[in-house]
Amino acid sequence: MRPFILLGLCLALSNCAANHSIASNMSHVAHVDLPEGVSIRIENNVSEDIVASVLRQDLPSLLQRTEHWGALKEDVVIRIHASTAAFREYVKQDHPEKLDGWATHRSIDIQSPRAAGVERWRDQLRQVVAHELTHVRFFQTVRLQEDWRRTEIPFWFVEGMAVYTAQMHPTRTDWQGLRTALGGTDLRLLLNPSPVVVRQRSRLAYSIAGVAFGSIMDLKGRKGIREIMKGIAAGETFTDVFRRVYERSIEEVVRSWGVQIGQDF
Ligand SMILES: [Zn+2]
Repeated sequence: MRPFILLGLCLALSNCAANHSIASNMSHVAHVDLPEGVSIRIENNVSEDIVASVLRQDLPSLLQRTEHWGALKEDVVIRIHASTAAFREYVKQDHPEKLDGWATHRSIDIQSPRAAGVERWRDQLRQVVAHELTHVRFFQTVRLQEDWRRTEIPFWFVEGMAVYTAQMHPTRTDWQGLRTALGGTDLRLLLNPSPVVVRQRSRLAYSIAGVAFGSIMDLKGRKGIREIMKGIAAGETFTDVFRRVYERSIEEVVRSWGVQIGQDF
């Protein structure tokens, strides 16, 4: 269902358009009210407003693309930062070299892809916001307010869901395609990568997560994933709920992925 969306816009600083010298302090704010009674607030800290305007236009389709991971129950703020430095300073995350966005259960921080000089910046914007919005919906649905990395929910599940949902092109990478990229590295090291591995092999770890999540989707589709989320929200551990929904352990499934790339655990 396509959500009916009311757009509202106000400028936090009424004189900002006339005075470009205050660009770094400038903050344009727009509110998007959703029918479920929550609102998305877009804060644009970039001197030009085009990224925020495009995001306001694209938001309905991004909400639609992610909606099967649960309705938003709380307001969300999306902050667009002017530079990598400003973005990193705000989210204060020691993270992979190239971090495009950061989500909590109530916020999304991104750096402006246009300010960063990304060529196809609208595609990039859509992909990053779809990725982070998937996280927000997941966190709100399972009622997770702490950093998910402190929980036992695997990297491949959380990041895989976001990578899988945000991918713009229908052609999916598969296990075979990852075989060469992995080389001799143990698949399990990348399915649940340590912070060091995430930093060094970020691209590969995220691709693998996307493929792993796709494999789970092939088993029971969205219904299975929603069952998992329901179980986590009700207090079940990921390990238990996974076994209940898919009638096999995580280890068994991981082993079957290993077989497909010629790794025997
Ligand atoms: Zn992510």
